[in-house]
Amino acid sequence: MTAHVTPAATITTVREWVESAKRVVVLTGAGISTESGIPDFRGPNGVWTRDPEAEKLSDIRYYTHDPKIRKAAWRSRLTHPAWKAEPNSGHLALVQLERRGNLHALITQNIDGLHLRAGNSPERVVEVHGNLHQAICLSCGRKGAMQAVLDRVRAGEEDPACEECGGILKSDTISFGQSLIPEVIEHAMQAAHETDLLLAVGTSLQVFPVANAVPIARTQGARIVIINAEATQFDDIADARLYGRIGEDLPRICGRHDAA
Ligand code: NAD
Repeated sequence: MTAHVTPAATITTVREWVESAKRVVVLTGAGISTESGIPDFRGPNGVWTRDPEAEKLSDIRYYTHDPKIRKAAWRSRLTHPAWKAEPNSGHLALVQLERRGNLHALITQNIDGLHLRAGNSPERVVEVHGNLHQAICLSCGRKGAMQAVLDRVRAGEEDPACEECGGILKSDTISFGQSLIPEVIEHAMQAAHETDLLLAVGTSLQVFPVANAVPIARTQGARIVIINAEATQFDDIADARLYGRIGEDLPRICGRHDAA
């Protein structure tokens, strides 16, 4: 990633917008967690950038039809960097933002659970793509702790089945080709309608319908700030565009965690 430093004047302006906004909505993507050691998908060191075949592991059509893909997915879950990751200064800045009292919603596409671990409250966090820490049976819908299923993988089951009905197990996350949970995405889009300042952070804004939060907020008259190292398709409707490192820029615009 190119080391781009955001000009101080841009930081000051955006910080003032954050301070004066009544209902800030933040939309985060994989880019906020790269500094916690979890690679994104499409950035320069992204999982799919390095290995396009890896995309199949996140596609429900391959997952349900091909046991080889499921076995590979379970192997990859065993060593997922999320198990050891800690929230970074970007996540902590959003906790600080909530403490200010004007965080309306924190919509995240991430499945790593780091916003909740950092200390944002469950009432504010909308995990539109689910959470890796839970497993679900695709047949009976039974949910359970992911670590309990991973223990079975470690014990030698390459593709563990549901203990209740024998169905296919998967992380309780939304894969490509899978439907979103209607009330969860509706909650996210409603927040986008209500915001007066939307910050899109660490997302390439290529995954829909979540990315619609940006044009929806714009149409409602909200300010739009995009913080992402690479260009996005919505850059031209943004009021400010920050290309710097999220772990540096977010604390500068939201206030530092230790300043609470
Ligand atoms: P993406 O991979 O499409 O885009 C991430 C963007 O973040 C890239 O444009 C990259 O340039 C930018 N970026 C990375 N690190 C940055 C940094 N430190 N500072 C500034 N910019 C940085 O991610 P997406 O838009 O979230 O879409 C990927 C999908 O995959 C999402 O739906 C998400 O559910 C899932 N995913 C989640 C995780 C996670 O939970 N941490 C990780 C990978 C993928």
